[in-house]
Amino acid sequence: MDEDWTLATRTVALGRPAHEPGAPVNPPLELSSTFVAGGDPVYGRAGNRTWDAFEQTLGALEGGRCLAFASGMAAVAAVLSLVPRGGVVVAPDGAYNTTLSLLESFESDGTLRELRRVDPADLDAVVGALPGADLVWLESPTNPLLEVADLAGIAAAAHDAAAIVVCDNTFATPVGQRPLGLGVDVTVHSVTKYLAGHSDVLLGAAVTDHPELAERLRTHRTLHGAIPGPHETWLALRGMRTLALRVERASANAAELARRLRGHPAVSRVRYPGVGAIVSIEVAGGPEAADRVCAATQLWTHATSLGGVESLLERRRRHPNEPLVVPAELVRLSVGIEDVDDLWRDLDQALRGI
Ligand SMILES: *Cc1c(COP(=O)(O)O)cnc(C)c1O
Repeated sequence: MDEDWTLATRTVALGRPAHEPGAPVNPPLELSSTFVAGGDPVYGRAGNRTWDAFEQTLGALEGGRCLAFASGMAAVAAVLSLVPRGGVVVAPDGAYNTTLSLLESFESDGTLRELRRVDPADLDAVVGALPGADLVWLESPTNPLLEVADLAGIAAAAHDAAAIVVCDNTFATPVGQRPLGLGVDVTVHSVTKYLAGHSDVLLGAAVTDHPELAERLRTHRTLHGAIPGPHETWLALRGMRTLALRVERASANAAELARRLRGHPAVSRVRYPGVGAIVSIEVAGGPEAADRVCAATQLWTHATSLGGVESLLERRRRHPNEPLVVPAELVRLSVGIEDVDDLWRDLDQALRGI
C-alpha cells in the first residue's frame, strides 16, 4: 500500500487482488464456510478472504486493525466487552439510543457498577467524570443532537486516568475525522450507514491501533459468533468505493439545506455541526406538526436510519427508547446525494403545509 495515497484514493484502490495478468479487478466473493486443511483461512467464523478485503480497506482509512461484525450493535457490544465486570463507563447523555439502552441494561443487571452520563461537548464535565472510569464512550457528532466532542482533549485526560476511549465515528466517517489519529483507542462504525451507503446491508466494524485490544475483539467475535456473512462485507466494500464522492456531495447538500432552513418560519432551531450530512431541525408547531411534515414529503422518505444515497427524515422521539434530552419535535434529516433544489422544494412544501 502506498502510504502517500489520500483517503479518496485508498477507498478505491485498496482491498483488490494483486495486478497480475488474468486476475479479477475486484476481490472475489468466496462463499465457503470451510477451507482445505493446512492453510489459512481455516473456518469461516474465524476469518475469510472476503472479510479481509473489506477490513484491510477500512483499517487503512481509520489507521488501525479493522474487524467486521454482524451489525453496528454487534461491534458496540464487542467493544463494551473490553470493560471489566463491575466496571465504570462514562457515556453521553444523548447518543444512539440502542447503544445507550445496552449500557443501561449493563448497569441494571450489575455488569457495570456505574454508568456516568455527561454532555460530551463539555470537556470539563467529561474530565470530571473520569476518576475510576474504565472506558469513555463517545459519539462525535452525536446521534441526533449533533454535539461535537473534543476527542484529543478527552483522549489525553482519559489516558491519564487509565481509561480506554472509544468513538463511534458513524456520523463523521473517516472522510470527516480519524479518531485514532487524535488519541482515541477504538473507533466503531455502523457500516450500515455511510460506509456501505445504499441502505441495503447491515454491518458493523471496530478499528483499533492497539494490537492487544484487536486480539481481544477478534477473540470475542470468534467465541460469540457475531459475524457477518461474506456477502455483507463484499457489498459494503463495493459501496465504500464511492464513499468520498458520496460524503462530499451529501455534505454540501446538508450545509446548503441547513442555511436555507435557518430562515424558515416553520423551523424553530437548526442543528448542523458544519461537517457531515445530518441536519436536525425542531419544528415550530411541536411533535404533531413534526409528524405531519414527515408524512407530507414525496422525495424524502419517512424512515429510520441514515447515510444512504437517498434522503430520509424521521422524528426521533417516535421511538420509545430515544433519550429524553432529544426534543420531542426534533426531526433528523439524513441528506442524500439528490439535487439540492429538489430536496429543498419538497421539504419546504411539507413544512409550509402543516
Ligand atoms: C445505526 C447506528 C448504530 C447501530 O448500527 P446497526 O448497524 O444498526 O446495528 C450505532 N451507532 C450509530 C451512531 C448509529 O447511527
